[in-house]
Amino acid sequence: MRYWGAVYRPPSEARSLIVQVTYGCSHNTCAFCSMYKAKRFALRPMDEILEDFWLARQTYPRVEKIFLADGDALVRKASELESILDNIRKLFPECKRVTTYGSPSSIRIRTDEELQTLRDKGLTMVYMGLESGCDEVLKLMRKGHMSDEIIAMGQKVRRNGIALSVTAITGLGGPDLMERHAVETAKAFNAMNPEYIGMLTLMVEDGTPLYDWVQDGKFQLLKPKQVLDETRILVEHLDSPGSVFRMNHASNYLALKGTLNQDKAAMMAVINRAEMDLSSLRPEAFRGI
Ligand code: SF4
Repeated sequence: MRYWGAVYRPPSEARSLIVQVTYGCSHNTCAFCSMYKAKRFALRPMDEILEDFWLARQTYPRVEKIFLADGDALVRKASELESILDNIRKLFPECKRVTTYGSPSSIRIRTDEELQTLRDKGLTMVYMGLESGCDEVLKLMRKGHMSDEIIAMGQKVRRNGIALSVTAITGLGGPDLMERHAVETAKAFNAMNPEYIGMLTLMVEDGTPLYDWVQDGKFQLLKPKQVLDETRILVEHLDSPGSVFRMNHASNYLALKGTLNQDKAAMMAVINRAEMDLSSLRPEAFRGI
């Protein structure tokens, strides 16, 4: 396989065939994110994409999961996305799911009919970053969208029969916006009722505006105990029946998972136990993106 630059994928795509259909992120201005800073956003030539799938078929006897990278595959023309999915079905009849990241902007340009066609041709799930349900946090972090727009795009994916996985980041509001960030993020999740909810914990990466703000004292990071407090408020306010909640990323201090709403009490018990023994949290040195 041929890759340009660093390639990122959700943790659940660890065993997937990954093919870049775009390079980088079309937004690329979030203050906390360094993932695609080294790449200018571009559409990868279609002939190269199709050739990569052909090469993969020669190499791998069985491919059950495919992830279309980089940050924003849905921004391609609908006809090109359809052609990519047709090609996947032809080459990999055993493939059970095809997934991709989708930004609110790229979901907005897709019509309902286009999304339904992509679903029918095998697109099974879209991963979308909410980051926060609090508009003040979204503005501060230069997400480029307010929460109501992100919620509407998540709902659009779901009403067209494509599964939705949404992530947000604990600590993204710092201490000042902690409570609002937790409550409004929970409400945004509730409004989308996605199949999967993923919580990361804020990490500061060199080369980002956030890094400079932390160095200059303009942004305060949450202490691990505060992250637990914020997580408690978030979980208390979650009401999203059927959503699988996962907070088991390498950035998290505490591993927490369950199915909503039935596992809320058990998840709260895990948070309570962790608050009584902070030494059980992942040490700072072992956290990673
Ligand atoms: S967080 Fe997502 S949308 Fe924001 S710059 Fe990073 S990849 Fe792009």
